[in-house]
Amino acid sequence: MKLKKICLFLAMIMLGTQIILSQESSEVVVGKMATFESEIPDSSDPDIKKKVERFKRSETAKLNVVFQGGSAKFTESQEEFIRKVITDSEKEVRNLLPKLPDGIRVIVENVDWDLEIIDGVAGRTETNSPPLVMVQISRKYKNGRIDAVRSGLRATIFHEFHHLSRGWAIQDNKFGPGIPNAMVNEGLAVAFSEIHTGIVNKVNSYTDEADGWVKEILALPLDASYSYWVMGKHPDGRTYIGYRTGNYLVRKAMTNSGKDIIELSELGPGEIIKLAGY
Ligand SMILES: [Zn+2]
Repeated sequence: MKLKKICLFLAMIMLGTQIILSQESSEVVVGKMATFESEIPDSSDPDIKKKVERFKRSETAKLNVVFQGGSAKFTESQEEFIRKVITDSEKEVRNLLPKLPDGIRVIVENVDWDLEIIDGVAGRTETNSPPLVMVQISRKYKNGRIDAVRSGLRATIFHEFHHLSRGWAIQDNKFGPGIPNAMVNEGLAVAFSEIHTGIVNKVNSYTDEADGWVKEILALPLDASYSYWVMGKHPDGRTYIGYRTGNYLVRKAMTNSGKDIIELSELGPGEIIKLAGY
């Protein structure tokens, strides 16, 4: 009995060391330790390794980065760099958007997609509960995946975490259907990322024509095609209409109301559309 207790104690010390080595934020360490402690099995539990895995995936820490490399895995130093960019970005966003939920999991995938026009990195906010963001990093980007991380990862995290702060997620979205809601939520995320990272992407740009595009979107039926109107290509040749129009609309609402992007992010789609003058 005594020996079992000592073994468990040693396992806890080893685990604690591993946690401290693998985390940068002491806040995160404390959060995780507390969770693990509540999960400590009775001394007869033989499967410490499984417990460690479960503990690593715990949802109670503020942020948890998981890698999915498939056959083309990231190297350890690449993972370390990616983790640092995401961790640093999360701290910045959390300071700006206090509604960002805790327990965010970011799953990072290594892909061979052509993501040239979005600086080598794509992302999507999958669920609010649990807060889950998927990030794809292209190894086909100019000088490879680390080049993509340097160019696109920070802006992608700002964009997706803005969605999490509002509850705009694919599977358990907190907003009703319709392209106008998509236009506002994507516009807010685009503008937030542009303003606070200084990274402006051409795919989200707009011209004065966007005024007419807002009117078109507001007149669409509830079931209008998401891929035509938000994130794909419209048959008439226009691309990413929802993102670009949303960016325009949000800027206009900021100018008209004198509110900054953080204050605007507190409001519902209808209020923002009104503030923009529509
Ligand atoms: Zn988005």
